[in-house]
Amino acid sequence: MRTDVVVVGLGAFGSAALWRLAARGVQVVGIERQGIGHAFGSSHGTTRLFRVACMENPALPAIARKSLALWTELGERTGATYVRQTGSLNVGAPTSGPVTGARAAAAAGAAPVTELTHEELAARFPQYNLAADDVAVWDPGAGICYAEPTVRAQVAEAQRLGATVYPHTMVTAIDVGPDAVTVRTPTTSITADQVVISAGAWLGKLVPDLPLSPRRTPLFWFQPKDPASEAFRLRNFPSFIWEFADGRGLWGHGSDEDFLVKVGLDGADRDRDIDPDELDRYIHPRKDIAELAAAIADAFPELDPEPVKLMPCMVTDSPDGQFLVGRYDDRVVVAGGDSGHGFKHCAGLGELLAQITTKETPYTDVSFVDPHRF
Ligand SMILES: Cc1cc2nc3c(=O)[nH]c(=O)nc-3n(C[C@H](O)[C@H](O)[C@H](O)COP(=O)(O)OP(=O)(O)OC[C@H]3O[C@@H](n4cnc5c(N)ncnc54)[C@H](O)[C@@H]3O)c2cc1C
Repeated sequence: MRTDVVVVGLGAFGSAALWRLAARGVQVVGIERQGIGHAFGSSHGTTRLFRVACMENPALPAIARKSLALWTELGERTGATYVRQTGSLNVGAPTSGPVTGARAAAAAGAAPVTELTHEELAARFPQYNLAADDVAVWDPGAGICYAEPTVRAQVAEAQRLGATVYPHTMVTAIDVGPDAVTVRTPTTSITADQVVISAGAWLGKLVPDLPLSPRRTPLFWFQPKDPASEAFRLRNFPSFIWEFADGRGLWGHGSDEDFLVKVGLDGADRDRDIDPDELDRYIHPRKDIAELAAAIADAFPELDPEPVKLMPCMVTDSPDGQFLVGRYDDRVVVAGGDSGHGFKHCAGLGELLAQITTKETPYTDVSFVDPHRF
């Protein structure tokens, strides 16, 4: 079989690239080793935080806004909601990463934000057991986005626009030649002009010289101690990132849908450099839960620190905490190194991947995610 582009791996990044390539009329084939919207990579669970004034880099608001625009357009066609904009809190000391990073992103990316003093924050969000110098930057365009449903919707939209999709098919080799690239699976080979490799935690296996480090990162859900409490509904407890004085932090959001509150811990330095094929899928109460439960008991006294649901997931870190998205060589484009904050950007990154693959001018600066920057 011969095609224009093959996309290897249809998680968040690959499904978006497939969609945006198909939207241009490019003949594109997507190959995914699992089912579409599965729970064995980095894009499972119901939700992810959606932020616009992204503390991780001032260039990110443009990409988040592109995701929002594309998902809004897709939602108008399909009748589904892919982002709920409830606003979001960046909490910590005035010099903390969330506060300074959100301010910098807002200034550079023209994302409007509001500063909350300690007193305003405490009055408006009494769920938080704040440290004496905690303040917040409120990002009104932020909220939550929906993980598995969005991956499925991006693939379905790509198929509607003409893409061919092979689920449950593992790519075993990618041979790059002077005139074409051949993508091999156990049952067939596909020859293409270009390949987009968006294999998540497995990207480093397919392109071994990329500096990527997969990390085991479980997802956790909690409930309020008082089942009748409204305090942790999404409308009262919107998404947040909170950095503590010791450098660790919590992130999460409330829920109106199933009333389970999602909270995770940042800064636990373990389970790095794992082999994604050997991911430990057991949950270890002492290792996985104790530190997070203690942090929650301290931070949100009205939340029951015993998780009601949890599942393993993976983040793939890059050395500078930014994605690796861009041209790798004449025939290969890569997308990975999500570093734990990629989902909200995936549609915007998909558009960039399509532009890079078809040699259009990217709609925003991509030098900070250049895979060759190391
Ligand atoms: C606990 C946790 C919380 C997070 N919270 C947030 C958040 O709040 N906000 C946010 O924006 N981001 C968040 N993220 C990050 C976000 O989920 C990731 O950035 C995103 O899911 C990465 O998508 P991906 O496409 O790189 O990887 P994946 O979705 O894993 O996709 C890679 C795909 O490639 C496939 N594949 C691999 N090898 C092959 C092969 N040989 N052949 C065929 N297919 C192959 C895999 O099966 C997989 O489907 C979080 C991540 C975790 C783990």
